[in-house]
Amino acid sequence: MTAKLIKGTEIREEILNEIEAEVKQIKEKHGAVPGLVTILVGENPASISYVTLKIKTAHRLGFNEVQDSQPADLPEADLLALIDKYNKDDSIHGILVQLPLPKHVDEKKVLNAIDPDKDVDGFHPVNVGRLMIGGDEVKFPPCTPAGIQEMIVRAGVETKGAEVVVVGRSNIVGKPIANMMLQKGPGANSTVTVVHTGTKDLEGHCKRADILIVAAGVPGLVKPEWIKPGACVIDVGVNRVGEKISEKTGKKIAILKGDVDFDEAKEIAGSITPVPGGVGPMTITMLMKNTLKSLKFKLGIA
Ligand code: NAP
Repeated sequence: MTAKLIKGTEIREEILNEIEAEVKQIKEKHGAVPGLVTILVGENPASISYVTLKIKTAHRLGFNEVQDSQPADLPEADLLALIDKYNKDDSIHGILVQLPLPKHVDEKKVLNAIDPDKDVDGFHPVNVGRLMIGGDEVKFPPCTPAGIQEMIVRAGVETKGAEVVVVGRSNIVGKPIANMMLQKGPGANSTVTVVHTGTKDLEGHCKRADILIVAAGVPGLVKPEWIKPGACVIDVGVNRVGEKISEKTGKKIAILKGDVDFDEAKEIAGSITPVPGGVGPMTITMLMKNTLKSLKFKLGIA
């Protein structure tokens, strides 16, 4: 059997088209567009390329995109003052502080300074609490887990009553996606198990999974024989395992591998995400969706 491919690149296009259409409608009816500011401190090359992609996506969607680049030696107090300025700016609905921050800055203090109602990344403790409560309380689900859930739903995979096993318990992927899948409601209502380095029988748990979500950051951790035939496999892992020359650009690019051995796993799973081109493209997409949502909350139309 060859699994159905769940392609993040295709789902991203579907969602971005939906957002674009909604932005146009809201602009016509309410004269407002979503405003997103990205604060970048310093010149980390990985951050710059990620931010560039965010800007490009926001422009395509007709957002008011503000790029605020600051020097690496920006004092923490000045960064906090900047966040305060955007917290009070009515044209801004989403504030994003690009991580990692320089060492002299307390990351937690900075993220907690963002108004929870503009925290489109969903990392503020208030939004983590809202996610835990679930239902109407949720304002901004964190972007990567939201992307994972969206992929499962759009692939037509039944979640109600499904055994979901999540490998990894990080605050940005494992814990939030586990929490989202156990909520009572559409696209969830699953029975969830979270496994980690303290788990005794990793293989046994994975073998039970109707939906296996792997976010460990260990290339090839999940063996093909651990996959239940017909299961939906979401591979969140992005691991650099070498370099190659791009056929398109002739430049050196990273060879990326997931946490699941894709070539063998696709012969067993019912559906599976590739790496790259799977979960990866979903994160920025869901950030845009959260920013649009923030404007809708403000307009009272969410
Ligand atoms: P993380 O913070 O390093 O957490 C990894 C988790 O996996 C931890 O809970 C760890 O367990 C668990 N783990 C590691 N090795 C394990 C093993 N041998 N057996 C069982 N559990 C194991 O990583 P993360 O931030 O969640 O990211 C995970 C992966 O997803 C990375 O490859 C990352 O690049 C990728 N990622 C992709 C996207 C995207 O595509 N948009 C977004 C975020 C992350 P302990 O808690 O016991 O240490």
